[in-house]
Amino acid sequence: MRRARESTVLHWKGYDHARGGEALVRQMRPLRNADTEAVAPALPRLGVPAAVVWGAADRFQKLRYGHRLASDLGASIDEVAGGKHFMPEDHPDRIAAARQRGAARRTASSRAVTPYEQPEFERDRLPLIHPGEECEHLCDIDRLARPRAEACEECGMERTLRVCLSCGHVGCCESWRGHASARAEETGHPVIAAWRGGAFAYCYPHRRYL
Ligand SMILES: [Zn+2]
Ligand SMILES: [Zn+2]
Ligand SMILES: [Zn+2]
Repeated sequence: MRRARESTVLHWKGYDHARGGEALVRQMRPLRNADTEAVAPALPRLGVPAAVVWGAADRFQKLRYGHRLASDLGASIDEVAGGKHFMPEDHPDRIAAARQRGAARRTASSRAVTPYEQPEFERDRLPLIHPGEECEHLCDIDRLARPRAEACEECGMERTLRVCLSCGHVGCCESWRGHASARAEETGHPVIAAWRGGAFAYCYPHRRYL
């Protein structure tokens, strides 16, 4: 109860002012089912460490969605009896435990990275999700660049990397420190491919998986 009150106070702050309604609309407006549907096919190929913790009593996001997500990610699922929608707030201990289990596994397997040679950095071998749909940004790149470093050039991260197909810059992913997208924004280079975690190409100007 105390935690619920604390939580309500924190969340309410953003809306409890004259332009609160606008804030809510701004927050809801970019939510589109189509975005979720577009990335769903990529989940099984993400290849990132994941654990799913789901409230068995969540009335908004049913338990079967959790099972679907876990199976797509190849992850374990921890069902929390009586858990509802706001799991990180209601059951922070279970989330922390899942993270810790994940970190332990990651340390154990962190040396199992793939070797440097990269046959997939060839146009006809890119793992495209929507192969029929042309992206002029990708077509305009004469020769796809291969990774020019073995780890994120900014922070040294060795897994779930993204490679710029224009210049070969290697950066870490959004769920780490986002150095790949930061560099893309700086250079205007449009398309990245996943490397050492995941199998997809993404176009920044189009804002979609290719
Ligand atoms: Zn594009
Ligand atoms: Zn980085
Ligand atoms: Zn680049």
